[in-house]
Amino acid sequence: MPVVYLPKEGDRKEMYRELLALAKELREKYDIRFSRDAKDELEALYGIMKALYEITRMEWDERKTEKKKKRKSKPLKKGIERTLLFVKPDGVRRGLVGEIISRIEKAGLKIIGMKMVWLGEDWAKKHYPDEMAAKIGAKAKKAFLAQGKEFPWTEEEYGKAILEALRRYVTSAPIVAIAIQGPRAISKVRAMVGDTAPSKAAPGTIRGDFSCDDYEWADVQTRSIYNVVHASDSEGAERELKEMFSEDELYPDYTTLYEELLGEF
Ligand code: ADP
Repeated sequence: MPVVYLPKEGDRKEMYRELLALAKELREKYDIRFSRDAKDELEALYGIMKALYEITRMEWDERKTEKKKKRKSKPLKKGIERTLLFVKPDGVRRGLVGEIISRIEKAGLKIIGMKMVWLGEDWAKKHYPDEMAAKIGAKAKKAFLAQGKEFPWTEEEYGKAILEALRRYVTSAPIVAIAIQGPRAISKVRAMVGDTAPSKAAPGTIRGDFSCDDYEWADVQTRSIYNVVHASDSEGAERELKEMFSEDELYPDYTTLYEELLGEF
């Protein structure tokens, strides 16, 4: 770290005071060591100039490394996939973020990006578009019938109501998004996440272990199912990752210790 030389007390008072104020400012802002060994104001000024030069150079170097990071990622190796998982607002509010990250890490998958975001209405509409209504309705109908329950709505109208509730849910608190890379990562992460309805999700899966919510119980309260996480499917993974992370926010170019055993992915 640079050294700032201060003049000896008693030398030209005004200049000394100004130098001292400047040096103090530098000390508060940067990690600078002080020495009271300067012979006079000139030497003190020289010390400050040198410190300023060092600081500028350090900031400049930092900018240069940032620039270097702005490169495109390499094409993925055969059999390697990228996917997006995010901890939904119920997971964040319940303090389950660490548990979920830990499961991804323990599975050996590589975390290549991570951030907390409070999603807005626009994002929610894009991620959960009206076109999803029929699919959601059909899935719910199947679940209702499988349990021997009636399904007195059309798939479309049921799906639409769910979509609105779902958008309210994902924008109700921050989410934590995680970009993941690894062998067959998309289906692997989906399997780790489990069934949409936690009441049905197998023990050992994230939804099975951390929630017991059910379609019917959510419906009674006209809310979305609180199922802790979202994980992309093979249709959505690439688009969803792009919507959540810019290229600069992904760091695939490091090697995990597990990759040292399996081969780099
Ligand atoms: P998944 O998240 O398992 O891929 P979908 O893409 O079908 O499931 O649905 C998106 C999200 O919408 C679900 O994770 C869940 O939070 C909510 N959801 C889906 N179907 C229903 C439903 N019938 N009732 C309440 N919420 C639902």
